[in-house]
Amino acid sequence: MSKVLIDIGHGGSDPGAQANGLVEKVINLKVGLLLKDYLLGFECDVKLTRETDITLTADQRVAIAKAYNPDLCISVHHNAAEDIKARGSEVIHAHYDDYDDKLALDIMQRLAVAGMPKRRAFTKLNSIGSDWYYMIRRIWDNDTDAIITEGGFVTNAADAALLKTDAFLTVEAQAIAYSIVDYLKLRLKKLTEEQQLYIAIAKLKDRGIMNSPAHWLENAKAGKLIRGEFASQLIIKFAKELE
Ligand SMILES: [Zn+2]
Repeated sequence: MSKVLIDIGHGGSDPGAQANGLVEKVINLKVGLLLKDYLLGFECDVKLTRETDITLTADQRVAIAKAYNPDLCISVHHNAAEDIKARGSEVIHAHYDDYDDKLALDIMQRLAVAGMPKRRAFTKLNSIGSDWYYMIRRIWDNDTDAIITEGGFVTNAADAALLKTDAFLTVEAQAIAYSIVDYLKLRLKKLTEEQQLYIAIAKLKDRGIMNSPAHWLENAKAGKLIRGEFASQLIIKFAKELE
């Protein structure tokens, strides 16, 4: 099963970029947690470098990556520039191969559809010709594809207006998630019977077919239904027929 590490930039005593009332560490965390939720709908294993507002050193992040040994490490960031006109998405990938390019361009394309203009996909080298960014340089030899997404500039008024809304952050997370799903060819997770029943009952309720499904929903949520129970099967089948 593919393993994805979501490295959420900054945190704790390191706020990252700050402008227009936005704090980078906060929006990075929101996007990262949403990204995790989307990916968990697919057959993959997901780990985050942080799920709360904690400080992590470069060495700690690299250690997490090396211990987990993911197929893909995606670092979630947002940008800042002195020139407040600078705007749009950037994705940084490793210099040594072009395979991350496809993922980088796909993410930027999806973000553009969501209203965040494409700026550039690029690599940056240090003085000895290795990747400049440590989350790429220090883990790529571990058989891991590594990219960094910069989902817009907090310093630009138009970008900041988008980044202030949960609606955009949700779409940003979706854009990254579906690019990863395509890139790693992840398959949808098979739902358990309880999950299928839960979805089916919610659908029947929406259509006004079931009036008081509360007890069914409570049972489904609590995982109390017996597998193969006739009524459960009937409800799941009936809801499918409606599609
Ligand atoms: Zn950052």
